[in-house]
Amino acid sequence: MEVVIVGGGPAGGVAAKKLSDDGYDVTLFEKERIPRHKHCAGFISQKSIRLLESTDIDIRDILSELKGLHIRCGDATMELKLESLAGNVIRDEFDSHLIRRARDSGAKIVDASRVVDISRGEDGKYLVQSEKKAAECDVVIGADGVNSFVRRHLGIQYDRSNLGVTVEAEIPVGAEAITEFKETNHYDIGYVPNGYGWIFPKTKSGTVNAGLWIPRDDVKKLDQPLSAMFSHYIGNHDLSDQKVVPHTYLIPYKGTVDRFGEGNIILIGDAAGFVGIAGEGIPYAVESGFNAAEAVKKHNSGNASLEEEYRSTSEGLMEEINEYHVKFNRFFFNPTLFRRTIKLVEKDEYISSLMKKLTDESTSLKEIYRNISYSKLLLAFLKSLP
Ligand SMILES: Cc1cc2nc3c(=O)[nH]c(=O)nc-3n(C[C@H](O)[C@H](O)[C@H](O)COP(=O)(O)OP(=O)(O)OC[C@H]3O[C@@H](n4cnc5c(N)ncnc54)[C@H](O)[C@@H]3O)c2cc1C
Repeated sequence: MEVVIVGGGPAGGVAAKKLSDDGYDVTLFEKERIPRHKHCAGFISQKSIRLLESTDIDIRDILSELKGLHIRCGDATMELKLESLAGNVIRDEFDSHLIRRARDSGAKIVDASRVVDISRGEDGKYLVQSEKKAAECDVVIGADGVNSFVRRHLGIQYDRSNLGVTVEAEIPVGAEAITEFKETNHYDIGYVPNGYGWIFPKTKSGTVNAGLWIPRDDVKKLDQPLSAMFSHYIGNHDLSDQKVVPHTYLIPYKGTVDRFGEGNIILIGDAAGFVGIAGEGIPYAVESGFNAAEAVKKHNSGNASLEEEYRSTSEGLMEEINEYHVKFNRFFFNPTLFRRTIKLVEKDEYISSLMKKLTDESTSLKEIYRNISYSKLLLAFLKSLP
């Protein structure tokens, strides 16, 4: 069975590796020359590491390891220690590492070649046309990110008001200056309305990635341009005299698309809206890549279409994102509630244990929600009243 993957980000890269490992004939088209730049803060959580290790991908050589997270909301702060391996990467290196692993497993990689058309012949095979080459295949996996061509080709909408807008820059600061950030990712919740600011240090590259995230519909409510707020934000962290080239980019944050494909064409990663709390997308891109690979195998040995199989292999992930991450985002981006919660972390053991679970990510949000003791929560909030 021949598989074409459109897009060489983490979703496409791991799907290509998995399917090639299983003996499928895989061609991956990427529109940019690899290594390509991706606007991203580059946080690789413990969940991302676990998933990558499960398919034998080791990223230690390119990972700037982290010890913890520092979260500030107004006058409240909390420190969370990371108990297992996590860190930050430069996405150019990370994504090309995944592509290399896919190539080692046998995938054919065609880079600097944008996919411009997909058609289906009478024999049921698809013809995927890129700028350089065409490939015939039985199934197509759209892993082409937030502005997905494959999604548009299928006429599947992703509501623009479900997008977040980011402005970010990779700022060179040098290895010495970077020690100031103590191998800790910094989050400033509520720095912009319903959003946050971040500073993620990368010891290996001597850079920090700084940025702001805000729901798209809230940008027009700002009384100054987001770029001006970004300059102010990095100024507050003594980063403004450095060479800074900020970029704006989009990110899905309010759940997945309604339809995950059609026939034997499916969507994974950002193309399908698989993004978790606060814009963390890499682990869910990887997981949806695994689900797609599993669906291809089932489709190959059964009668159902790839889209039907994928819907079934992705059921758990869809529920996790649509039900729980979207719900949690409402709490995360409510500064009043979030500030009160983090003030309680030091005072209340139960709240502190919940936050630990969230950071560790070995438990799904669904499990965390299901096991919440509302009486303990209520007690903690009552204790916090003046
Ligand atoms: C500013 C910012 C910060 C972020 N920070 C984090 C973070 O710290 N941690 C985290 O986990 N997530 C983060 N995310 C989210 C994360 O970047 C995405 O969720 C993740 O990259 C999705 O992976 P993907 O493979 O689905 O898509 P992408 O990584 O976007 O890859 C899609 C690929 O498809 C290619 N492509 C597009 N169209 C075509 C075409 N027609 N033909 C061929 N190729 C095509 C693109 O060039 C691209 O290489 C951040 C996002 C933003 C915007």
